[in-house]
Amino acid sequence: MTEETTTHFGFSEIPVAEKVARVRHIFDSVAGKYDLMNDLMSLGIHRLWKRYAVHKMRLKPGLRLLDVASGTGDLASLMMHSMDDRGQIVLCDINGPMLEQGRRKMINTGLVSGLRWVQGNAESLPFPDHHFHAVTIGFGIRNVTHIEQAISEMVRVLRPGGMFLCLEFSHLAIPLLQPLYDAYSFNVLPEIGHWVTRDRAAYQYLVESIRRFPDQQQFSTMLTRNGLGQVHYDNLSAGIAAIHIGYKV
Ligand code: SAM
Repeated sequence: MTEETTTHFGFSEIPVAEKVARVRHIFDSVAGKYDLMNDLMSLGIHRLWKRYAVHKMRLKPGLRLLDVASGTGDLASLMMHSMDDRGQIVLCDINGPMLEQGRRKMINTGLVSGLRWVQGNAESLPFPDHHFHAVTIGFGIRNVTHIEQAISEMVRVLRPGGMFLCLEFSHLAIPLLQPLYDAYSFNVLPEIGHWVTRDRAAYQYLVESIRRFPDQQQFSTMLTRNGLGQVHYDNLSAGIAAIHIGYKV
């Protein structure tokens, strides 16, 4: 099998070896304004999507959970509120400034015990096999260089029968809305990014990376191919985002 030498970065084609650094640069640049931008871009709707995702997990006290690409810790905070003191959550992200933002935010809201912050790459997770009851990744997998490698790593660290949940931007289920969605995405969104973070390119990358990400069916197939069963998905806001769930076989 020949190794791929290039990969996509939004709509550009770049050497595979450069992607991690390019993605890291983006999140270094926007870390301080990341939460504000999410609220502005989605008018707060990302909070509802995250709430619904955690609701679907039906968490019980005492579980050991991993949130990959945890960023500023939104999913982990919601998960922590659904468990008691015996629960444990590991937040893992490749980017130090994003982890630090999340750590500060969670400590400020009184969330400390049962949490661990680990800097690591989704494609080579620094955790043992069969360790977690559930693994989540929110708006993260689109940014990794080798999506299936990251899926297989997340499945590796799950206990048999454990739940995998991915919340990610996806593809519109109502084609009539596409022109409106494209106009907003390509014209308005990078402008908001520029005003707030002074980094238009980061939000241009966001829009392009969403268009390049596999659709709901293709992503489901990737999950099944990498050791997950009972794979299903829910479209959110007409498919702007989707939640994919599967269980380690
Ligand atoms: N999960 C958070 C949320 O839902 O708000 C943050 C999502 S943010 C769009 C994407 C995160 O993925 C960033 O914090 C970034 O540092 C992280 N990331 C990108 N590539 C990664 C990788 N290969 N391994 C782990 N984290 C990665």
